[in-house]
Amino acid sequence: MLSTRVKIIDAIRIGKNNFSKKDVCTHSGVSWGAMYKIVDTLLAEGVVFTRNEKPIGRGRPNVPLCINPAAACYCGIDIGAHSTKILFVDLNFNILYQEKVETLFYSDEENFFKWLAECFRNTQMHSGIADDKINAVGLSISGTVDSEHGIIVSGANWGMTRGANLPVTKLASAIRHPVCVYSTQVAAVLAEYHFGKEAGRGNLVTIGLGVGIGSGAIANHMLLVSHPSRLVGYIGHILIPGNDRDCVCGWHGCLEAYSGGDSLLKAIASRTDIRSAKDIDLAAASGDPVAIEIMDTAARYNAIGVAGMIQLYSPEAVIFSGGQVRREGYLYRQTLVELKKLLPPNRRDCIFDITKLGEFQSALGAARLAFEKFF
Ligand SMILES: [Zn+2]
Repeated sequence: MLSTRVKIIDAIRIGKNNFSKKDVCTHSGVSWGAMYKIVDTLLAEGVVFTRNEKPIGRGRPNVPLCINPAAACYCGIDIGAHSTKILFVDLNFNILYQEKVETLFYSDEENFFKWLAECFRNTQMHSGIADDKINAVGLSISGTVDSEHGIIVSGANWGMTRGANLPVTKLASAIRHPVCVYSTQVAAVLAEYHFGKEAGRGNLVTIGLGVGIGSGAIANHMLLVSHPSRLVGYIGHILIPGNDRDCVCGWHGCLEAYSGGDSLLKAIASRTDIRSAKDIDLAAASGDPVAIEIMDTAARYNAIGVAGMIQLYSPEAVIFSGGQVRREGYLYRQTLVELKKLLPPNRRDCIFDITKLGEFQSALGAARLAFEKFF
């Protein structure tokens, strides 16, 4: 549940600094009394200020509430299989600075947190943002996460197998800022809900097609948070009959074991000299028969995962992101072709699109999660 402070800041931001207290009350759903008290506190803290405008005609002047964007800064760090994206946003969620580094292949807990703290510190230094301006850090992890207890349970795509159970309090004490942690697709779908092309839709699904394959969901305006024992959007490990490939999860036959970026490379390695998943996609788009054969199978598998999410949550929009998604490529388009073959007619009018938030989508969602938790 969002705090009333978060709801009020959201309402002021949605009002684009033109909302009066009355408008904020209506849009936030917070009671007049509680709203009045919190706005006064936010004004006293300098988080919010008022703009005095000349009254139009008779009656009380309109006093719009404005956010002071410099009043708080949040950091989002998205740890992907190959790269880690770090960004800082102000209180209006404008990106102040962003940077991408290579993900360290996991060896042990101490090295991992040392590396992660260094990533944060280096990026902060490059950004020029003072340490005391930073309120909190949100982590998004390609892997399984226990957000309630702040534990990274596994990240098989970057070498961290189940059992290590890394507490993010270790990062918090190293960098002296509060830290929260969620899985990549939880952060991705929240970023789309607030800042994406289809922002504000109450039923939204994201699909990440990268080294890992995953999905996130907003249902009735509620973010569904994946937990190790209550998984949401775990489509990468849907079992596909006839697929005998071993998966990083320890089992075999998973969707991701064929369609994930690294798996696609394995599938094609003995047959051509293509050496990146992106190049397989582009080769297929330009008519290479071996690449097309591999990608047709991948698209068929992907479609099973995506169709599952659509049948479960009946979203208004499905937004794709990740290293295997590009408009000029083959896999994204072919996945949609296969998907439309699978779906019943009443589900085909759903909006399908590629994120406009780019590869920092989940980092932005992680920063938003840090705001929701710690503001
Ligand atoms: Zn698996």
